[in-house]
This record gives sequence, structure tokens and C-alpha cells, in this order.
Amino acid sequence: MSPAPRPAVSVVAPCYNEQDALPEFLRRVGAVLDGISGSSEIVLVDDGSRDRTWPVLAAAAGRDPRIVAVRLMRNHGHQLALTAGLSVCRGERILIIDADLQDPPELLPDMMVLMDQGADVVYGQRRQREGESLFKRATAAAFYRLIARLTDVQIPADAGDFRLVTRRVLDLLLAMPERHRFIRGMVAWIGGRQVPLVYDRHARVAGESKYPIAKMVRFAADAITSFSVVPLMASMTIGWIMAALGFGFFVYSIVGWWGGHTLPGWTSLMAAVGLLGGMQFLMLGIIGAYLGRLYDQSKGRPLFMIRDIVGGGGGGPQ
Ligand code: UDP
Ligand code: MG
Repeated sequence: MSPAPRPAVSVVAPCYNEQDALPEFLRRVGAVLDGISGSSEIVLVDDGSRDRTWPVLAAAAGRDPRIVAVRLMRNHGHQLALTAGLSVCRGERILIIDADLQDPPELLPDMMVLMDQGADVVYGQRRQREGESLFKRATAAAFYRLIARLTDVQIPADAGDFRLVTRRVLDLLLAMPERHRFIRGMVAWIGGRQVPLVYDRHARVAGESKYPIAKMVRFAADAITSFSVVPLMASMTIGWIMAALGFGFFVYSIVGWWGGHTLPGWTSLMAAVGLLGGMQFLMLGIIGAYLGRLYDQSKGRPLFMIRDIVGGGGGGPQ
């Protein structure tokens, strides 16, 4: 049996507790796809939601043959849920988008035009972020600047995962086996012609952000450790500085001893011990962050586990 022809476009969105956002999402994405020439599919991944996301998705897949609903065994997190959807989708071009409509699907036609002109990746670049706290915007800005300093890969600032990629780029992305995925960085690393499309980011249509501060910190740590070894090298730099200071202190104390005016010196001793102890723990922590990820990777477990696939002409490729 020859494989079915690929749809022209796949829209892929991870969904975690998005029951309230989904009807509007499906309506707007459906309308956009109606205006695109060629066939299309919408791959929605339920990332172990605890609300009614799965029934909503499964029902939608029953109504509309374009919709493929994928359910994961449990919550895997945004980047892995997205990876699951990307591995299931079959389109020639793939639109990565969040289910909360913060990024407008209506940009797809413009992205298609840029891709017709030869882009391999068209990524949305945020001009403005509505409905997001000052804290979120400030931490996001600091994060993008920090990562730019720490790595040679040109990861565009103020761009999320919202982007249109070619099948070629997607296959290269899926060939990367890393567990701690920072997808926008991995796509940037692939290279080719990557073109920005500036847009305004809106507030969520429903529900609240699924990125509490702890997840944001973990995401930032994954991004930094997968794209830079500068923190690992920092211990070397700090070690040199500490060694130089230590040598100075050593000379100073010998000279003091020689001159016969040594004091009990409790304060300086405690200061040195405290400072060095803190530094050592910090450096051990940094090494641990890399080692832990290496350990995770070495186990070679699957990146995600699929429980069900509904719709899309039955079965799907998995
Ligand atoms: N998401 C997910 N699994 C998670 C957390 C989030 O699949 O564990 C999805 C979520 O449903 C949304 C997207 O990832 O479609 C982005 O999440 P969110 O909008 O909460 O992040 P923010 O836009 O606030 O950074
Ligand atoms: Mg969002």
C-alpha cells in the first residue's frame, strides 16, 4: 500500500488543561485552514490534562476529519508534548502554535508567502505582549539576553515556538534525540533561511498560564545547559580568581607571621571559609545540573508516551 499523500499544512498544538480555550481555537484555526489551498490537518496533543480537554479533543476529531487528537500517558511538559505532536503530524509545512490563542493563527497565510519565497523557517517575533505581567515580560527579556551572551547559536530574542517550518527542518529536528528540549533553540541551530514575522502577542483567550515560576526556571535551565557550557567553564575562571586571592592571602599571612604581629584572625578565617564553601557548592551545583541531564539522556527512555490517537483517517503513523 502506498503511503497517503501528505497534507500541505499541519497545525500542531500542545494542550494542557485547555478545555475552555479549545472551541475558540478550533474555530479560528479551522477558518484559517479553509482559506489555504491544499489539504490540511490539526494535530492536538493532550498533555495529561486533568480537565475535560481529552473528551473535547476526541469529540472534535470525531466531527472533523482534519483533526487528529493525541493523548499522552501523563503530563510530559510543553516541549515534549509538542515533540509528540510533531512526530505524529504528516504535513509538508508545519505550524507550531499554542492552544491558548496568544499567537494568532491568522498569520499563517503571511507565513506561507514567506515560505514560498524560500524561507525554511518563518518565526513569529513578538512586538508587544498583552495581558502578561511586568514580571513575565521582564524575566523573558532577561532570559533572551542571557542566552544570547552564553551561546554562539543565534537564537532570536522575543520569539517563542510559534513558527512555520518545512518538512525538511522538522525531520532534522525530530532526528535530535535530546530529552531536555529547547525547541526554538534547536530550530535556530539547524540554520537554513530563518525569517521573522513581527506580530503582537495577545492575552490568553481562556484559562491561565501553565507556566508557573518553577517551570519557567526549569525551562531556562534546560535552555542554558543544552546550548552553552559557559557555566561549566565559569568554575575555572572563578577558581583562578580564588587561587590568586588565596596566594595573596598566603603571602600576606607569612609576612605577618615573619613580622611577629599575627592575630587570632577568626574573622578573616571565617570569611574565607564561608566564601570558599559557598563557591564550591555553587560550582558543584552547576556540574550537577549538567551531569543530571547527561544521566537522564543516558537512560535512553522514550521522550513521550502516547496513550491514544483518535481521528486523522484512523490509526495514524504510530
Ligand atoms: N502546555 C502543555 N503542557 C504543560 C504546560 C503547557 O502542553 O505542561 C501547553 C499549553 O496548553 C499551551 C502551551 O503549552 O498550549 C503554552 O503554555 P502556556 O500558554 O501556559 O505558557 P505561556 O504562554 O504562559 O508561556
Ligand atoms: Mg500561553
